Amino acid sequence: MTAVTSLAAKLARPELLNLTPYQSARRIGGEGEIWINANESPFNNSDVAQLNRYPECQPPQLIQAYSDYSGVDSQSIVTSRGADEAIELLIRTFCIPGQDSIACFGPTYGMYAISAQTYNVGVNALALDDNYQLPANIDSQVADAKLVFICNPNNPTGTVIALETIESVVKQLPNAIVIVDEAYIEFCPQYSAASLVNQYDNVVVLRTLSKAFALAGARCGFMLANIDIVDLVMRVIAPYPVPKPVADLATAALSRQGIDQMQTQVSQLKGNGEALAQALRNYGAEVLPANGNFVLAKFANIAAVKQQLITAGVVARTYNDARLTNWIRFSFSDEQQTQTLIQLFQ
Ligand code: PMP
Repeated sequence: MTAVTSLAAKLARPELLNLTPYQSARRIGGEGEIWINANESPFNNSDVAQLNRYPECQPPQLIQAYSDYSGVDSQSIVTSRGADEAIELLIRTFCIPGQDSIACFGPTYGMYAISAQTYNVGVNALALDDNYQLPANIDSQVADAKLVFICNPNNPTGTVIALETIESVVKQLPNAIVIVDEAYIEFCPQYSAASLVNQYDNVVVLRTLSKAFALAGARCGFMLANIDIVDLVMRVIAPYPVPKPVADLATAALSRQGIDQMQTQVSQLKGNGEALAQALRNYGAEVLPANGNFVLAKFANIAAVKQQLITAGVVARTYNDARLTNWIRFSFSDEQQTQTLIQLFQ
């Protein structure tokens, strides 16, 4: 039984403290030549090594590669099926259905609220201020939410919150876990809160390979958190969250060569995105500062712009949310598609 001394253990769903996680064959391990403990097939019919075998729950090479990349200790890293699964795991680890709540600041990524709702967990949907910053007196607004989600850079606005502000929020909310979703951080790495993970027991950083690393189809994300949070999340996670081919692809993406390629593509995309943002400004749109791989623009003639995009075969992101009805989010793209878009707005 875990002693309820850490903040993580105090906040966790109490039934998890006594729970022994499922002892998968891979987790129990063993030594020898003849592996007949997991009802696997002895035949590997694919080119992927060991595909007939269950993968490691947390593939060590992948965790080490992310540790090297992020500068966060490997014991403080959990890999999951995208950052989306990490969001869900945190809610399932800490929130008692029908009783607890999360807080988030809109307009923002929709999955914090949806994930909470699927577990009958309350959503304290707070608003960013007019400059897309966190509200003043945040502690009274957040009330008793156990998990506080801050998306930085924020999707869909593209705006950022300074690291000092995030750190002060972490200090103001010592009895909640502050989750900083850094899905787009490779586009503005200087804002990362990863350095706070080792300093505070109530900070979690979420990352993904879906954006800058160009692996959305692989489904690979990471949670960076202190070991007490990691220990509890590991009681809830599926026995084999990361398929073997995904672990291999993701580890390669995090090699020196993979990171160089990512950084080259990030600077290309930022250049293309800046050119697109300029074209949108010239067209007369209100354009928010773009710190991710997308730009959010507000149009006076939204219906006409939407129609023009449809006619040109451009699928950009439009919104039903009342605060965003006149806005369109454009993901940055390659040179050719960017030029096509720029011409559309000329
Ligand atoms: N967080 C944010 C802010 C996102 O925009 C997204 C994807 N749209 C995610 C998390 C989910 O990322 P993943 O593909 O790793 O599940």
